[in-house]
Amino acid sequence: MQGLMMDFQLTVTSVMEHGRKLHGNTEVVSSTSDHDRHRTTFGEVFGRAGKLAHLFAKEGIKRGDRIATLAWNDFRHMELYFGISCYGAVCHTINPRLHPDQIDFIVNDAEDQLLFIDAMFVDLVKPLRERFKTVKKIIVMTSDRKVIEGLGNDWAIYEDVIADLDTDYDWPALDEGEACSLCYTSGTTGNPKGVLYSHRSTVLHSLGANQPDAIGIRREDVVLPVVPMFHVNAWGLPYVAAMTGCKMVFPGAKVGVPSELYKLLDEEEVTFTAGVPTVWQLLRDHMDKNNLKLPKLHTMVVGGSAMPPHLYRYYEEEHGLVVNHAWGMTEMSPIGTANQTLPPAARNLSKEEQMELKLKQGMPVYGVEMKIVDDNGHELPWDGEASGSLMVRGPWIIERYMNKDETALTHGWFDTGDVASMDKFGIMKITDRKKDVIKSGGEWISSIDVENAVMLHPEIPVAAVIGMPHPKWGERPLLVIERSDKRELSLQEIHDWLDGKVASWWKPNEVVYVDKIPLTATGKMHKLTLRDQLEDFSFDD
Ligand code: AMP
Repeated sequence: MQGLMMDFQLTVTSVMEHGRKLHGNTEVVSSTSDHDRHRTTFGEVFGRAGKLAHLFAKEGIKRGDRIATLAWNDFRHMELYFGISCYGAVCHTINPRLHPDQIDFIVNDAEDQLLFIDAMFVDLVKPLRERFKTVKKIIVMTSDRKVIEGLGNDWAIYEDVIADLDTDYDWPALDEGEACSLCYTSGTTGNPKGVLYSHRSTVLHSLGANQPDAIGIRREDVVLPVVPMFHVNAWGLPYVAAMTGCKMVFPGAKVGVPSELYKLLDEEEVTFTAGVPTVWQLLRDHMDKNNLKLPKLHTMVVGGSAMPPHLYRYYEEEHGLVVNHAWGMTEMSPIGTANQTLPPAARNLSKEEQMELKLKQGMPVYGVEMKIVDDNGHELPWDGEASGSLMVRGPWIIERYMNKDETALTHGWFDTGDVASMDKFGIMKITDRKKDVIKSGGEWISSIDVENAVMLHPEIPVAAVIGMPHPKWGERPLLVIERSDKRELSLQEIHDWLDGKVASWWKPNEVVYVDKIPLTATGKMHKLTLRDQLEDFSFDD
């Protein structure tokens, strides 16, 4: 027997309409290249999304066409998110930190028709212009005409092109299965691959990600997404904002300047923020140096790479924050797990035991199913010990990459490429990326566990552990420490420090200091590049 409920399509348009009707007066604050502190409202943002839709019609954009953005987090980017998707086109966000050749590849692979860019990316795009075969117009997200002086008439200014257009637009009735946005994987090996989100997956992800024990944003929150809108839709926060009506503070290019980021968090009385550990480390350095606090902030979501324990403790113990360690990936829209509240069964554990659980990546949110499997695909127990390939499935998880014929699934599950354990509470812990795992004498060493133990040392702010070839063991761990104003430690001192923190055979065989540990375009340690940089290294024995 079928249920007898409405066949209501889950579309981004329905999210926008909700936000416009109920939260029209909610404030949106942005830092942009033409405004230090721009103030607007959801009502105006969605009205200007209507202007964009008229522009797209004028430009001959058809349903399903891709329109790209290369931009920081700000109100215009939010207008584009909704204007493009609700028009029926696909909002393709591009990461400006990618290599120009990858940007070229992505724009052509997606066949982008229009490109919206921040003023500060004009110089990045100018030399690439001729290579963008399908792009008809480049629109710079500013009111400042000077930035395109001397450029061709295929360049335009955002405020000019929408100035005379109507805010009312007769939004089309979209099918929830239609694509609404597109994000390419970071492509650390080979070319990036396109992940094409649907209206349905986006709405379900926003609802799922914002469950109380997952991300849990509320109407009264003031939210500053440090996580970029060019990377997996800023973890869905712009949609969650339209659903809940929380005030948004968009930091623009200020995310890279800790003193400016601090000012925004403090002055706008931000209560909730989200970003990768690297940003929180920089913010910590700034706050430590200047003896600063953030009295209004209550929650910090951390994801993208593992949160080092010393940083977790700093924000939890010294600032009283709820540190919510979350995990996900581009192919998962991205949220898979969150770790802001422990299950009731863990409440009687000691504080230290609880801390061990909180440092893990968390429990799957409803909507994401998980299993861990061995090399033969056999499911492993949830005992907190066994670790294997982490497989996922659910309504906001990829089935196939864009422009590829073959499925991305194995028997209906997506292999995340992560190696993880699950404990009896259902809390997941990432031990490594499959390609970063160190195999010593046939046994796995978790590079993340060793890094975390090393970085607990007060004189080691940033370190990576990588597997390097070893004549006897196949691979052994090499510890790479980023130079700082702290003193350099000997291997013996590090071994002494690691006593009791990791198994003795996990201790690194050597330590080297480097000026900088390379990061990927999304701020993760780029171990492939690090291994390449150290290719002349060899262990003594
Ligand atoms: P991306 O698709 O660029 O967002 O990268 C996703 C990958 O980042 C995951 O497959 C993990 O390897 C890594 N990652 C994301 N969140 C975490 C986390 N909290 N801890 C450890 N690794 C993470």
